[in-house]
Order: sequence, then C-alpha cells, then structure tokens
Amino acid sequence: AQQQLAHAQKMEMVGQLTGGIAHDFNNMLMVVIGSLERLVPGLADDPKAARRAEMALQAALRCSDMTRRLLTFARRQQLHPEPVDLGDLVAGMSELMERTLGGGVAIAIEAPPADAEPLWIASVDRSQAESALLNLVINARDAMPGGGTLRIRTANTRFTEPQTGNGMSVPAGDYILLSVADSGCGMPPDVLERAFEPFFTTKETGKGTGLGLAMIHGFVKQSGGLIGIDSKPGSGTVFRLYLPRAAMDSAHGVSIDEDDGHEAF
Ligand code: ADP
Repeated sequence: AQQQLAHAQKMEMVGQLTGGIAHDFNNMLMVVIGSLERLVPGLADDPKAARRAEMALQAALRCSDMTRRLLTFARRQQLHPEPVDLGDLVAGMSELMERTLGGGVAIAIEAPPADAEPLWIASVDRSQAESALLNLVINARDAMPGGGTLRIRTANTRFTEPQTGNGMSVPAGDYILLSVADSGCGMPPDVLERAFEPFFTTKETGKGTGLGLAMIHGFVKQSGGLIGIDSKPGSGTVFRLYLPRAAMDSAHGVSIDEDDGHEAF
C-alpha cells in the first residue's frame, strides 16, 4: 500500500511539473520547427548545411512528440469518455501502426470485418485510447529489433467475479478486451514489477521516457478498466487492456450476442 501511495504521489508530482512547462516548451518548439522548415528548401545548393538543418528539424520534431506525450500524461485527469468502437479504432490506426513498426515486423489484426455490427464498443476517452495503443505498439517494436509478429485483438469479455491486478480492481461485468501481443524479448520479473512506474525505462537515454506504461496505467485505471500482462524473457509479451463496455442505450442501440467472442481472463 505504501508503494502504491508513493506511486500516486510521484504521478501527481509528474503531472504538475509537466503540465506547467510542457505547453510553453512546445510553443517554442513550434517556432523552431517552423523556422527550420522554411530554412531547409533554401539550402538546396549547400547539401551539407541542408543535411544539418534537416537533422535539427528531425530532432525538434522528436522533442515536440515527447512534449505532446508529456502533455497527454499531465492531462490525465481530464478524460472525456464516450462510446468508442475499439475494432474501428484499431482498424483506423493500422496504417500508422505499420509505419511505426517498419518493415521487419508482421502485423496481424483480429478486428471485426468492416460490415460487422459494432460490438466492440467501450466507454473511453478516444484520444487516450489511441495514444495507449500507439504506446503499446512502440514498446512492441522496441522489443523486436530483429523483427517478429505483432497481434492485436479486440473481443467481448465478461467477468463473472470482481478482478484485481496491477494496482487496479474492477467489478464483475462486461468489458472490451484490447490485446496487444508481441514475439519480442519479453520482460524478466524485476522489469515486469517496475514496468508501470513513472520514469522507469530499460531503454538507452533519448530512446525511452519511462512514461508510456505509466500513462496507460492511469488511462485504464481512470476508465474503470484492468490491465493483464503475460511476459516471459525470450518468448514475448501480451498486454491485455480490459475496458468497460459502454452502456448499450448510449451506443446506437446495438443488440449484443452475449456468447460472441468471449474470452477468459
Ligand atoms: P519506455 O518505453 O519509454 O521505456 P514504458 O513505460 O512504455 O517506457 O516501458 C517501461 C519499460 O517496460 C521499458 O523500458 C521496457 O523495459 C519494458 N517494456 C514495456 N513494454 C515491453 C514489451 N512489449 N516487451 C518488453 N519489454 C517491455
């Protein structure tokens, strides 16, 4: 319990810190990026200078991406849950995920076909859900430097008993599972134990912020969901996000086949 309190205090501190500076910092980065973007085309006859400016631009874009992630993290209190079809959300992000993964990783998406009834509707903040999925994909990519397979699955799940795990507990009920499985390096027990800690990273400086899983933890917990992880060194990692199903009267009056696609925890 003391560990959980320390975690909460750390999160609070990180939230205040980042919220205060990330926004102003990003505004200044926009000036840098805008200037460099205008500079690069004018340097066509000086390839060396053009390359340097291009490098500076890429670095600034990466910084901007990091501050955006920090902002999302700092704003974690302000979620706007709405009924979101997670199958649609995954399908809509497939191109971005492919680009993120690069060539070496095969991606297998098990989502409902385009003409299927929208049965995978969770009550979540859409942009936080997208950012959580993207963070899981980035982690999966980093776990598979030599290539591999990423499987993403959405399914309906019913818990007949309350469930607990990873500092979260949820009542019995209907949930939408979003599962992201990689065939990468996996996590040894000491990493697994600390994975959700803010700023905990095993990645080299500049590559990891240690905020991805902390942000996902905050998002899922605040959404009233649960996270399950299976990870073994050498045989990959599965993240299972269980997100509360949207009340069906708010979800376009969809009828639910209770036995369709259920999955045990
Ligand atoms: P970051 O990715 O910036 O390091 P995260 O909070 O997303 O921060 O992850 C924390 C740590 O958890 C990572 O540095 C890595 O050691 C471990 N981790 C997360 N996802 C995976 C995965 N899919 N496979 C193996 N290790 C992982």
